[in-house]
Amino acid sequence: MIDVTGHTRAGPFGCNNALTIHKFGGAALANADAIRAAISLIAPASQDAPASASDAHPAVVVASAFAGVTDALLSIARTASRNAPAQIAAEIERLRARHLKVVDVLLGGADADELRAFVHQAFQELEILVAAARIVGDAGPRESDLIVARGERLAARILAAAMRSVGLPAVFVDATDLIETDGRFGHAAPDLGRTNAASRATLGPLLSSGAIPVVPGFIGRGHDGATVTLGRGGSDLAATVLARALDAARVILWKDVDGLLSADPRVVATARVIPHLTFREAAELAHYGVKVLHPRTL
Ligand code: ASP
Ligand code: MG
Repeated sequence: MIDVTGHTRAGPFGCNNALTIHKFGGAALANADAIRAAISLIAPASQDAPASASDAHPAVVVASAFAGVTDALLSIARTASRNAPAQIAAEIERLRARHLKVVDVLLGGADADELRAFVHQAFQELEILVAAARIVGDAGPRESDLIVARGERLAARILAAAMRSVGLPAVFVDATDLIETDGRFGHAAPDLGRTNAASRATLGPLLSSGAIPVVPGFIGRGHDGATVTLGRGGSDLAATVLARALDAARVILWKDVDGLLSADPRVVATARVIPHLTFREAAELAHYGVKVLHPRTL
């Protein structure tokens, strides 16, 4: 977990000094058990006092795609025109089944029906995009971003419904309504001024009403309304951009490692957690290639 806590300040949106942005990476959303654990981190007291949980702890949640899903979708986008249709169909089926399984384990009733329909629609659209790419000869940057963005959209919708099922007032809000960008497919940079305005206008009333907005990370809106991605690992950036727009007191990036380490633990067995870093130090590490933070996050 990386806790990005700045100084508390009274900014233009200054009533939000208690606001926390929780960002969950793919590993924190790998399966139904992981999602349950993630939800207990957002509102530890939710079982006892569901209605007041968000009043006591105003929060915005940013979700990455389930672990491995972005890689799988990117590979589908890249190979759509080359790989055998049967091979791609099998991969799409595997992803669909994985999402449906999480829905079945976590949800019941009308919410489950609605989510199942959403999952089917997301993968039907993916099949259409893949078929188009095969005809055209490849999936262009615009199509590729649209393909990949469904990982986060699915995860955020499922997470929001799972939160509601334990009594939390979660509301899905698409990042294309919040994060305005320069429109560069694959590596879009947020436009901070326009993002501030859009995020405050959309999330402000929701937060005032006690709701917990749940937003897909990694994506934003291009000039013509297109869905764009912010570069690999971009959900961290989405979380800090929203924090800035809302004057949040705190951003917690929930990771599958304990924090920023002295080396990549997959390579160096003795890597250890660095307990405190200044923003500048952490930003430098990210800039020089640390995998655990998107370079522009800080
Ligand atoms: N799911 C996206 C990726 O794997 C974004 C993120 O994880 O932050 O790059
Ligand atoms: Mg990811």
